[in-house]
Amino acid sequence: MQEKTAEKYVPHDIEPKWQDKWAQDHLYEVNEDDPRPKWYALTMFPYTSGDLHVGHWYAMAPSDVHARYKRMKGYNVLHPMGFDAFGLPAENAAIKRGIHPYKWTMDNVERMRGQLKRMGSIYDWRREVVTCLPEYYKWTQWFFLKLYEAGLAYRAKAPVNWCPKCQTVLANEQVVGDGLCERCDSPVSRQDLEQWFFRITNYAEELLDFSSIEWPERIKIMQRNWIGRSEGVEISFGLEGGGEFPVFTTRPDTIFGVTFVVLAPEHPLVARLTAPERRVEVERYVEGARRQSEIERTSTEREKTGVFTGAYVINRLNGERAPIWVADYVLLSYGTGAVMAVPAHDQRDFEFARKFDIPIKVVIAPDGWNGGELSQAYVEPGTMVNSGQFNGMPSERGKEAIADFMERKGYGKRKVSYRLRDWLISRQRYWGAPIPIVYCDKCGLVPVTEKYLPVLLPEDAEFKPTGESPLKYCESFVNTTCPKCHAPARRETDTMDTFMCSSWYFLRYTSPGYKKGPANPTRMRYWLPVDQYTGGAEHATMHLLYARFFIKAIRDLGIVEFGEPFTRLFNQGIIISGGQKMSKSRGKVIAPDTYVSELGADTVRVYLMFIGPWEQGGEWDDSGIKGISRWLNRVWSIVLEGYEPKAEDEAKTKELRHITHRSIKRVSQDLEKFHFNTMIAALMEFTNYLGKVREEGMAHPDAFREAIDSLLLLMAPSTPHLAEELWVKAGHPYSIHNQAFPEWDKDLAAEEEITLVIQVNGKLRDKLTVPVTIAEQQARELALGREKIKPYIDKKKISKVIYVPRRLINIVTS
Ligand SMILES: [Zn+2]
Ligand SMILES: [Zn+2]
Repeated sequence: MQEKTAEKYVPHDIEPKWQDKWAQDHLYEVNEDDPRPKWYALTMFPYTSGDLHVGHWYAMAPSDVHARYKRMKGYNVLHPMGFDAFGLPAENAAIKRGIHPYKWTMDNVERMRGQLKRMGSIYDWRREVVTCLPEYYKWTQWFFLKLYEAGLAYRAKAPVNWCPKCQTVLANEQVVGDGLCERCDSPVSRQDLEQWFFRITNYAEELLDFSSIEWPERIKIMQRNWIGRSEGVEISFGLEGGGEFPVFTTRPDTIFGVTFVVLAPEHPLVARLTAPERRVEVERYVEGARRQSEIERTSTEREKTGVFTGAYVINRLNGERAPIWVADYVLLSYGTGAVMAVPAHDQRDFEFARKFDIPIKVVIAPDGWNGGELSQAYVEPGTMVNSGQFNGMPSERGKEAIADFMERKGYGKRKVSYRLRDWLISRQRYWGAPIPIVYCDKCGLVPVTEKYLPVLLPEDAEFKPTGESPLKYCESFVNTTCPKCHAPARRETDTMDTFMCSSWYFLRYTSPGYKKGPANPTRMRYWLPVDQYTGGAEHATMHLLYARFFIKAIRDLGIVEFGEPFTRLFNQGIIISGGQKMSKSRGKVIAPDTYVSELGADTVRVYLMFIGPWEQGGEWDDSGIKGISRWLNRVWSIVLEGYEPKAEDEAKTKELRHITHRSIKRVSQDLEKFHFNTMIAALMEFTNYLGKVREEGMAHPDAFREAIDSLLLLMAPSTPHLAEELWVKAGHPYSIHNQAFPEWDKDLAAEEEITLVIQVNGKLRDKLTVPVTIAEQQARELALGREKIKPYIDKKKISKVIYVPRRLINIVTS
């Protein structure tokens, strides 16, 4: 063994050195002709908004640790990185600072790539993908054309969320809080515009099936709620004076309680039905509703408003007429945009009826109802009353009976309804993939022929703070010829939502230079689907839902052979600082670069894993990161200072081997489950123990050597630079990252077991077999939970519990 060395741990001396060496040796480059099983580990790619902040590191460093672990476990691991490079911030920078969005974005990409390299990750940079480059967005456009040909992309006039400040349309998912723009916090209004949509609703039912993927329960619940499946009946009311008035309800059992119906203000029937003498008032109301957001309109706290149209429907079940109102609490985007109002059994209808003096008719009686007035809507099941031939029936059965009756009579039909709307993908912006469509006076709407892709963004567009898309006024872009008849034509000036770019980037990583299609089919067959995806939970109903839809759609077009993009998903939490979420606008951003220069990338990696359970996140704390640095220094000296045996004790050697193998087991099991914080704790305990063993010098040198080697191998995924340096310094061949992850020996790792005596008030009542290392708390809980003990402590107050480690627990009652 070596003599003591004065050499100190200086991360700055070893990290760039190893990063360069790994790159030179192509250590992390992966290929498809590999006998090992494949593992595709994907981290959500960053948006190119500027420097990497600690939130990026929190998403990327632990996932790199996991991917490295899989690599050492014998997998052929693809762990790629790229950049989500289109979007509004680049355009805003162009307006504010006069830098072209392309330059601004690519400068950021270069800086971020450098920062990502300093993290010491295993990204195979040959596979980098940047979504704003023509070689990439050509295929984004190609996919648009495929969806268009399949009838999955269409253009329609639709009321859309409009941000007056950003001057653009927002998807429902981008409207946050009380109807505010996700980007600029301005109140969002509604406007009718010709827009492009993808028919995600065609896949609503299939998107509810999570049976082939292992995703966190809460993400599945969020998607399920977002899709919002409900079973009910589409009932057709008769319009007085002729015609039909269809409404969707999940409560056909309350049909006899309808005392009015409501149309959404944007409903096309409003203009047709409104009586001449009511017109002025109705139009004024509709105009007012347009200026409100959906969230404001449907807020339960808000006082109900509405206006009578002067028209009536006929309820075919009882022949009663019910007035038609217009009210903004009904949205055109839900069901049919019309509801049957049953004030006795729906709270919003109840409040509306109270305010406008509309009758409230009870048709579902609560248990013990005395026939009196209700003080609020009764929404639970009950017994049907005032419901003709259905009186006396339990309402749950009534639902079916009335649905059957209506279907027989032709008054209605059972239907499944979804809350999910089609995905609005057009943006009135420059910095996105242009939608490859041309408008010709003769031929109408014509898709651009594939051989003319990509439709390039013009470089000479002018960026002015008018809020309108620079493409609209860029003559060189707008004026073109019709792909069909070659007459002069105009280009579509809308660009695609950036979520379109991120719906397929993980396909491109398999073969980024590929020219014959979006990705090489053979390579896609080898790598996909993604085995492990990691990223933020905030993408639950956007990216994670869009990508699932997109893959199902292109599977049906024969482009891929799988239907779910991401087999496993893990969502990390967020890092806060000073009790606040870090964000540029609030100026609370921790810049990892400073810490990397001072303490090293390995320290930052480990600190982020140690801060708390990865799925929960935690608070950044400068003293915490210094503690990690001290630990790594300790590892450094224990490994390099050598081991001098003083005497040999067989029991000490046995204990050392037991602790070594127990540590291997704990670290492996924690890594498997992303339990990084407890994994680091186990490594720290192991280090402390080795320090003690080294001082005592009683264990056999071979056992100590095994322990040190195991420690380095176990640390290799977390601290790749330090582990490599010490591995080589300890005389092993480069590279530690090509070594197998250590396996634990079952017998050596097994915990020694002992028998604990359980006494109640000093009398022996039971015995317990437990691992020798059991903690006091756990031993107490086990003892108190024993069936044999319960009768002795039943209904008695426990005054104290005496615990003698390795021997007994005495429960004292008073
Ligand atoms: Zn905005
Ligand atoms: Zn034409």
